[in-house]
Amino acid sequence: MRGVAASPGIAIGKSVLKMEEALLADEREISPDEVDGELERLREGLEKAVEELKELQEETEKKLGKEEAEIFGAHQMLVQDPEMVKTIEEGIKKDKKNAEKALEEAVEQYASLMAGLEDEYMQAREADIRDVGSRVLRILKGKSDEQADLPPDSVIIARDLTPSDTARLDKERVVAFVTADGSRTSHSAIMARSLGIPAVVGLGRDFLKDVDDGAKVIVDGNEGEVFLNPSEEKLKEYRERLEEFEQEKKRLAQFKDVKAVTRDGEEIEVAGNIGNIFDVEPLLEQGGEGIGLFRTEFLYMDREDLPGEEEQFEAYKEVAQAMGDYPVIIRTLDIGGDKDLPYLELPQEMNPFLGYRAIRLCLDQPEIFKPQLRAILRASHYGNIKLMYPMIATLEEVKEANRLLAEIEKELEEEGIPFDGEMEKGIMIEVPGAVMIADALAGEVDFFSIGTNDLIQYTMAVDRGNERIAHLHSPYHPGVLKLIKETIEAGHRNDIWVGMCGEAAGDELLLPFLLGAGLDEFSMSAGSVLRIKELLGFWTREEAKEITEKALELGTAEEVEKFLKNNKKTEK
Ligand code: PEP
Ligand code: MG
Repeated sequence: MRGVAASPGIAIGKSVLKMEEALLADEREISPDEVDGELERLREGLEKAVEELKELQEETEKKLGKEEAEIFGAHQMLVQDPEMVKTIEEGIKKDKKNAEKALEEAVEQYASLMAGLEDEYMQAREADIRDVGSRVLRILKGKSDEQADLPPDSVIIARDLTPSDTARLDKERVVAFVTADGSRTSHSAIMARSLGIPAVVGLGRDFLKDVDDGAKVIVDGNEGEVFLNPSEEKLKEYRERLEEFEQEKKRLAQFKDVKAVTRDGEEIEVAGNIGNIFDVEPLLEQGGEGIGLFRTEFLYMDREDLPGEEEQFEAYKEVAQAMGDYPVIIRTLDIGGDKDLPYLELPQEMNPFLGYRAIRLCLDQPEIFKPQLRAILRASHYGNIKLMYPMIATLEEVKEANRLLAEIEKELEEEGIPFDGEMEKGIMIEVPGAVMIADALAGEVDFFSIGTNDLIQYTMAVDRGNERIAHLHSPYHPGVLKLIKETIEAGHRNDIWVGMCGEAAGDELLLPFLLGAGLDEFSMSAGSVLRIKELLGFWTREEAKEITEKALELGTAEEVEKFLKNNKKTEK
């Protein structure tokens, strides 16, 4: 069965069906003189729930960090939500229901309301309301909060896991979890990634009918696959995969806390690409030494309207603070192409990848761009932030963007709002035309970051999302290699540093080429960081230069790939 790959890793274990705890409320009609007593019971129950949640928040903060614990702060607010409390009280006073039943009905009412909303984020709050409701109900029924003893190698199977369930998962015993509901942005998925427990979510409720308690299960959190009662053959295959995965993970962990250095001791920055705050912890866990690309457009997605300056400021600040002294490159809104924002109602275009997008849209609509620039500048006071513009094709674009930025710096100064006046500004090099004028562009910025995903697309005239021509979207094409080399040389000629944040930065085969070409910073998906750190240690720049030069003499992508394979290093 295939669901959403919510948290990477492979696990083999036994299914533990999470009992939808016997928490149905008993219904009882109460007499008028019982009303006060029930109201008092409710009040005590709610207070006890807040206490429990406070403790849970503290525990989780110690175990997983502040951000993960915040959900229980939100739960405390939910328990005390005046509207909800009022609805329960009315149920007791007017409808003469006992506290349990009045609570259950109010929770049902609010949860269904959330579930019916369009917004995916609000829908996900349904689970939070039910979670809070079950907690108060359990307290009213006088039950304690013990987690049932789980057997080792448990794979938890549930309709959905609440954040409380997820935070309490015993990592010694639970090897994975699988849920019928949920998406990549549901809290349980986010927390699974932080805990490092493989998870597959969103399998659909029908699958719950097919699972027996204690059945053998394979969970592949990398691919989003779940095998129930697998054959001996499948088990063997996955035991091997698991073994390899574990061995490799253990082996690579040695590079987590060491700086990435070449064999002759040159330090190289190996950073990661993120989409939101939840990607920070796993990146640090994988030894990332900075953020080379923060794709801010994810803040703009899955919602009804634009995020305001304040919301963005908080988001950027949180990431910057979580990264401490490490650099955080925040890329301004890169919307358009395959990344749509329905609420902007952009016109349908024949060629959206070549259309009204990214910096073009931002410069055309400063009312969207300026709040983001203000938010980034304000956040720069709280960490090592750098700013980067995407999809630059002309000199005028950089100048105009920088002019707006300078305007905002002046505004902030006048308002007495602190920001980093020395914040570095850079551009992504993703358009071949930009490579050709790189010397001029370098005069306007402090760094370049090569976005190979788009650079290849525009160089090869190949839609990066079209699987029929995917073979042409190759970083090994000599035309692409020459553009990369030229970008780095132009940067260095003009005394600015050059990084890469396209997928090619994490390409093991390409690594010596990039090192030899003089690349200063590599930024990639968290999962590639440790391996790239290891590989950098096998090479010196001088040795790598030979690879770069020879590769540039070849005529086809196939020849380049073969050459790189033949010259792979497997040790220092
Ligand atoms: C790129 O184009 O290489 C890049 C890193 O940006 P994105 O993948 O977000 O377009
Ligand atoms: Mg791009």
